[in-house]
Amino acid sequence: MTVKRSLMTLCVLLLTNTFSFSQSPLIHQMVQQVSGDTLFATIADLQPMDRVNASNSMVPAYYLKQRLQQYDVDTVFFHFFKDNTPPNVIGIRYGELYPDDYYILGGHYDAVLPGAGADDNASGTAGVLEMARVTRGIKLQKSLMLILFAAEEVGLWGSFAFVDSAINHSVNIEGMINMDMIAYSHNLTDSSVSVCYKYHCLDMLDTFMVAAGLYVPELGIETDSSSAVIWASDHAPFWLQQIPALFLIENSDRWGGSFNPYYHTFADTIGMGANSPWLAEKITRSAVATLLLYVEPFLPIGIELPTYQKPTVTLYPNPTHQQFTIRSPQLTQHINLTLFDNTGRVVLSQMNLPNGHSVDISSLPHGVYFVRIDIDGEAVTKKVVKM
Ligand SMILES: [Zn+2]
Repeated sequence: MTVKRSLMTLCVLLLTNTFSFSQSPLIHQMVQQVSGDTLFATIADLQPMDRVNASNSMVPAYYLKQRLQQYDVDTVFFHFFKDNTPPNVIGIRYGELYPDDYYILGGHYDAVLPGAGADDNASGTAGVLEMARVTRGIKLQKSLMLILFAAEEVGLWGSFAFVDSAINHSVNIEGMINMDMIAYSHNLTDSSVSVCYKYHCLDMLDTFMVAAGLYVPELGIETDSSSAVIWASDHAPFWLQQIPALFLIENSDRWGGSFNPYYHTFADTIGMGANSPWLAEKITRSAVATLLLYVEPFLPIGIELPTYQKPTVTLYPNPTHQQFTIRSPQLTQHINLTLFDNTGRVVLSQMNLPNGHSVDISSLPHGVYFVRIDIDGEAVTKKVVKM
């Protein structure tokens, strides 16, 4: 059963909450940088990797570590907790004023056989990396911990081990957000998130409502504190220790027809199980905005608000019969391109293309393709329809 209290909560907290209700320009800018294109580029990186627990591959863990290091977090490490099991991958940005007070964004990176696990949970993993990306170069008052959990699918091993270790070392965790499955929209019409919480998390839920209302007003919000499935991911060990935590998942009726039909199947791939860069972007923005309200970002003295220009790329004509041209207004460098079909298979890969290059796809079958374009260390994904 789902409890719908979003509107009521918003009204109550408008009267009672202590946060100011004007936007912070810095938070606004960081939240706006969260991009569905970038999230889907990360999902495209992860879906061909073997993330099944039994394989014990370290490839995904090294990839995640490298991504966190790329965004200059203060420390990145592997948290090994069990023999023959990949580690949790943890990055920390230490707070300048309160380094011992931690807020956590987490998501599991493992997957089940035989799936590529694009929605479950390359999507949430991508969201965690996205927070590392958009906080690059920014100072925080409190510490932000970014955790990619291992071994969720076999019984939340990674998150239980992490919470045990944190309790043993008296780590002060003030709050946690877990994202697990944020990129599937039923019929591409669902535009809301399910926020799962327990009663010790009501303050955090109120903060989430404020943050989402201020910075992601286009995202619909449903809340759920009572259905059985809300325990089924990595926030559960935090709840059991009475640590405030929210679980964000695409809003799908998990007992009815709109639940992701590709869940735990071979077709949990970009285009099938993960079909909505829009929803992944908005849910990630809501998590990032909430945590930023807590960790309080600020700019070092003498530093201007960085201006950010996301690479813009146009592919035309689209839909197309034969070929499409790639063009970017600000781009002079060369472009790397990867084309995926809707099962996530790479069907074309070309390096060092000049701006304005035309890509011939006349030999490919009709259908929808995802184009990943790498420019200047940033990746964007676009859809192309071959007619
Ligand atoms: Zn999952």
